[in-house]
Amino acid sequence: MLTYEQARRTVIEQVEKGRGPLATANISVWDALGFVLAEEVKTDREYPPFHRSTRDGYAVIAAEATPSSTLRCVAEIKAGDTVTQPLVPGTCVQIMTGAAVPPGADAVVMIEHTNRDGDSVRFERAAQPGQNIVPRGSEAKCGETLLSPGIRLGYAELALAAQVGASQLRCASKPRVAILSTGDEVVSVDQEPGAFQIRNSNSVSLAAQVQLAGGEPVLLGNAADRIDYLREKISRGLLEEVLVLSGGVSMGKYDLVETVLKDLGAEFYFDAVAIRPGKPAVFGKCGGTFVFGLPGNPVSTMVTFELFVVPAVDLLSGASARDLPLVEARLGGALNEKQGLAHFLPARVEWRGATPVVKALPWQGSGDIAALARANCFLVVAADRGQVNIGDSVPILLRKDVI
Ligand code: AMP
Ligand code: MG
Repeated sequence: MLTYEQARRTVIEQVEKGRGPLATANISVWDALGFVLAEEVKTDREYPPFHRSTRDGYAVIAAEATPSSTLRCVAEIKAGDTVTQPLVPGTCVQIMTGAAVPPGADAVVMIEHTNRDGDSVRFERAAQPGQNIVPRGSEAKCGETLLSPGIRLGYAELALAAQVGASQLRCASKPRVAILSTGDEVVSVDQEPGAFQIRNSNSVSLAAQVQLAGGEPVLLGNAADRIDYLREKISRGLLEEVLVLSGGVSMGKYDLVETVLKDLGAEFYFDAVAIRPGKPAVFGKCGGTFVFGLPGNPVSTMVTFELFVVPAVDLLSGASARDLPLVEARLGGALNEKQGLAHFLPARVEWRGATPVVKALPWQGSGDIAALARANCFLVVAADRGQVNIGDSVPILLRKDVI
């Protein structure tokens, strides 16, 4: 059985090998959050485009602004003002943050370090050449590449694109990810379940996880545990780049997903991983579609999506596969887990000072969604570890959607 690291590597290798050419589209900078760039973004001019003052104060010739010296203030420059007149020796100009420093001036003295009386400005300390000025072109040259293909667009990247006038961005199209839940007991969220039925929460968590990963969910509802129903719905799912199934991959008599996939010509790369929850996770390819069969217990579905589906969505989005958001924390409550499988336990991490302290939450196993909704991370107990004591260092997998 593969470890979860080996299983992730298998996903990455197979998707890198088997993906088709990347489709692209022009996306408005207002809508491009979470898209992956497919084309370079370059500067349209130098940045800053003029010698920019970073303070409210006085533009001076540094050598003239010495302690207790006085200069006559002859003008005022606001941000956005056109500046052509050079600074005349023996004078200073009042200047605002973001305004262009006049030719001839080589320093800006903060207003807090001056005293003004009418036109006369007295300086408290010596000005240093260059102080409080960002020289033209020092952040970027004209035509310089600021953002490269493969970069995921977050708020700072979008602001940078906006700064250089890239209002439309050539991005990779989001991969379409079909979501199909299975199970005779599963009813849709807006339906009243019978006494022994359950609502389809997995399709909801999967759709959210697909969106967070940068994919576009395609909702296919639920298929009952019958070969013919499964075949029809799975065939529909195989029209998309990725198909994610929940349920029907364990050892039960009605766990038929693998059988149907095999009938449809699927090739499997793994059908079990040494983790709990999530051991029966399946990954394969059917036609051109990457298929994930995730176990149906809700926490298993969520964990296995984070571990195995996210890297596939990354690669199909034109990005590289993100590393898992694993960090080290101190254990706040002792644990004793069965060895042989890596455990992912719902947990809460808190930062007290610099050291994160983590505690596993009480839970009823992989069906306990409420426990996961109280968690902000998974505490990872390695397969060979078992006993973990208070104060030990343990890895935690952050829930980036809530932290
Ligand atoms: P399975 O993997 O099909 O054996 O299902 C394992 C457990 O997960 C069972 O208790 C199911 O009722 C539950 N389950 C399966 N599918 C869903 C779903 N779509 N939403 C919520 N729970 C589910
Ligand atoms: Mg089932």
